Amino acid sequence: MSGKTEGLPGTNSRKALLKGVKRVVVKVGSAVLTAGDGLNRKVIRDLTNDMCGLRKKGVEVILVSSGAISSGLRKIGLSKRPDSISQKQAIAAVGQISLMMEWEKAFARHRVKVAQILITRDDFSHRTRYLNARNTIFALLSWKIIPVINENDTVAIDEIKFGDNDNLSAMVTNLTEAQLLIALTNLDGLYDKDPRIHSDAQLIKVVSRVNGEILRYANAIPGTHGTGGMSSKLEASQKVALGGVPTIIANGSKPHIVTHLFRGKEEGTLFLPQYVTLCSRKRWIAFTKAPRGEIVVDRGAERALIQGGKSLLPSGIREARGNFSLGDSVVILNEGGKQLGIGMVNYYAGDIRKIMGHKSAEIESLLGFKHDDEVIHRDNLVIANELEEGVGECR
Ligand code: GLU
Repeated sequence: MSGKTEGLPGTNSRKALLKGVKRVVVKVGSAVLTAGDGLNRKVIRDLTNDMCGLRKKGVEVILVSSGAISSGLRKIGLSKRPDSISQKQAIAAVGQISLMMEWEKAFARHRVKVAQILITRDDFSHRTRYLNARNTIFALLSWKIIPVINENDTVAIDEIKFGDNDNLSAMVTNLTEAQLLIALTNLDGLYDKDPRIHSDAQLIKVVSRVNGEILRYANAIPGTHGTGGMSSKLEASQKVALGGVPTIIANGSKPHIVTHLFRGKEEGTLFLPQYVTLCSRKRWIAFTKAPRGEIVVDRGAERALIQGGKSLLPSGIREARGNFSLGDSVVILNEGGKQLGIGMVNYYAGDIRKIMGHKSAEIESLLGFKHDDEVIHRDNLVIANELEEGVGECR
């Protein structure tokens, strides 16, 4: 990666890429938003000015704001995050109102209204709740109100958590079909080494494809507030790239950063989109729903799935691991443990254990009912190369 900018086709000029953006998700990290004994009001004001500037140009802005826990900690006077889950949740409850108050005040100076949306990953795993969240956001945007989204930290426990707001912002980008994700952090972008430790670290300006080298760089740069870090930003960029959407990671503390990015200034790291995209249902199955279990298949089923483009039938299943429900996403493995894909199941794990190895015609006599012939229908299945290539048609 000479000069830390890859050789790229002509279409990659930032201006050209950002020209058609009419809806953007701006994610602001805790490290940018908090300072001293509370929230950094100057940064909040500056970012708000920029976002209002975008709105004036007809760009819809959706804000994903972290900072509830960090500002709650500072408000209560604690120096570090407690280990207890309920205390962390209580701290988020304290911090979230201050966070919203500051955004509301800052936007009010421009006569712009904001709305608070708190969600958990679980909300995204249920198609109806997912669509409800989407409709709410679209209603707010149609009234020119800025949705300010955070994880619902006061109720979210690990099993139902996004874990970090990078992940959340990617899912919000996909949910709202935004055309750009901007992730603002306290570093200038992705470096080849941790710039806080190595003075010779070089900024990577453009990433056209996330490979092992890029992953290694990111893994070496953790976040400063216990969540996030470069690797979760990279994951977020991959999730949106498959939908044909670029991500820019940039320094949220730099004055006018959002305005500069929209003018095409070479700030931060740009992750290029992949133009052949997974259809939105497949993206939802593969990336939005958290996999709840695993299904191990025999060689015949592996061939049928990978080469034959077929659905997964009970006869080829060797094992169902976990206690997943009908409608959950599960990872499909071969007997050697290799991941073959991710799919949404038509049966409960317990029922799959009863019908595995049997013909579909026997399902009814074994279970006393039958939903479908297939355990995973082809349309609800994303096989590994579709995941890697980002190609996957929905029928
Ligand atoms: N939801 C957390 C908060 O508001 C932040 C998580 C993150 O930034 O990754 O404190």
